[in-house]
Parts: sequence; structure tokens; C-alpha cells
Amino acid sequence: MKLFAGIDVGSAATKAVLLDEQLQVLGRGLTASAGDFAAAASLAFEQALAQAGRKRADVAVVVATGYGRENVAFAAFQRTEIDCHARGAFHHFPRAIVVVDIGGQDNKIIQLDDRGHRVSFTMNRKCAAGTGAFLEELALRLKIPLSKLSELASQSQDPSVKLGSYCTVFAMTEILSQLRAGVKPQDLVRAALESVARRVLETRVISGEVVATGGVVAHNPLLQEILARVLDTTVHLPPDPQHTGALGAALAAAQAR
Ligand code: ADP
Repeated sequence: MKLFAGIDVGSAATKAVLLDEQLQVLGRGLTASAGDFAAAASLAFEQALAQAGRKRADVAVVVATGYGRENVAFAAFQRTEIDCHARGAFHHFPRAIVVVDIGGQDNKIIQLDDRGHRVSFTMNRKCAAGTGAFLEELALRLKIPLSKLSELASQSQDPSVKLGSYCTVFAMTEILSQLRAGVKPQDLVRAALESVARRVLETRVISGEVVATGGVVAHNPLLQEILARVLDTTVHLPPDPQHTGALGAALAAAQAR
């Protein structure tokens, strides 16, 4: 049986998805991109193959996407992140949707019609405060493991705590001074997640059902309800949100068979 692979080489993390001919996921890979995109792509691919118990020779087509997609020498071709996130999200929610992808260094808003065709697209790369990098910095400053942010934020009981600053540097200064003034870390982390959601809203006005993808929503489950409240709409998460782009690339590989 032929297999198809998608590799999403993101600025922060590299993801791989392996599909069979029925488009079932057989394996996944995930590793830090760490500046060496070629090595990260190979490692994520090997992880997915190992999970599936298969070999490189079993894979008929590999498609690369993401910021570092040009570095995947073993890919047959590349597709943009926009194309792949749209495909991956539409695969799980085949109707008119707005895909909101919050990654390590940017956020993207892709509006799709009921056939999965792109109606519009906006990307915000200028404002780091609406991305995963902001949360990474926050975890570092608060000396909290990144993976614990969402859990901590869910203990917040004071919704009046807000962050007024727009840029990461000012937001971080504001957080530290609020901490010194006695504001609880859980309230500040919840406010920081809310600020990420507000940056999405500032990127553009959103109307319609949202499908949220990317590492930030994957690792911060609380963000689903925060996004729904801030965007005032229904927000769905696909299975494995961080792998949506890699899934889309694997679907493009299967289509090319
Ligand atoms: P990109 O495609 O831009 O590389 P991703 O969509 O993979 O980005 O998301 C990366 C972001 O996901 C990181 O910046 C971080 O905020 C978050 N993240 C990744 N791994 C974890 C983790 N183990 N715990 C909490 N957050 C994480």
C-alpha cells in the first residue's frame, strides 16, 4: 500500500504526517526546528515512519510546507502554509469556515467557502504579541514550563485583569510590574492568552465558524473558549491542531498520486 507524507517546517516546530491511501493518519512526527530546517524535516519524517512501522521507500509522495519548506530535499514539491492549513482544516470541517492559525511567529486568517476554496487571506507577521513566541517569552519570564501556562490560566478567578500593551516588550514590562504590585500569576497568564486572541481580532474582522489550528491552541486548550468569547463565534479545534498544516501537505501529496 502506498503512503503519502506531509512535512510542515515551521519557524518554531517541524511537524510530519503520514497517510495511507484511505487518508487515514498512520504516524506523526514533531520536533523543534531549532534553526536547522533540513535536519528537523528528516527527524520529523523518521518519527512518523517509526510510529507507523514503515520505511521511506514505502512513501510514494512527500510534500513540504511551512516557513522552511524549501529545505526539504526529499519532497516532490512544496505548497504554501495557507494552502495546507486550509486543506487540513477543511478535511475535518468540510463547510464554509474561517481558519485561524496561531503559530510560533505569525497568525493567519483564511476564509474558505463551502467547497474549501479560499475567499480571503490575512497574515499578521508584524505583531509578535499575537503569537506563540510571546507565550514562550512569558513562560520564561515567569519561570513556568510553557506546557503549564494554560493549566495555570484556568485557575484565574479575576477576569478584570487585562493587558493594555500591544507590543511584547511593553506587555512583558507590564506583566512584571503587575506581578510586583501583587496581581496573581494565573490572572496575568489568562490576560496574556486573551491578548493573543485580541491580536487575532485586530488582524481582521471575523464572521462565521472558526477552526483554530497551530501549536498555540494545541497546547493551550483554554484558548478555545477565550477565542470564542473574544471573536464572538463558535470555535472548533481539529484533532491534533498543531499538525493541521502537515496533514494538508500530506493530503496534497495523496492528491498528486
Ligand atoms: P510554527 O508552525 O510557526 O513553527 P506551531 O504552530 O508549531 O508554530 O506553534 C509553535 C508554538 O506552539 C510555540 O511558539 C509555543 O507557543 C507553542 N508550543 C509548542 N510546543 C508547546 C508545548 N509543549 N507546550 C506549550 N506550548 C507549546
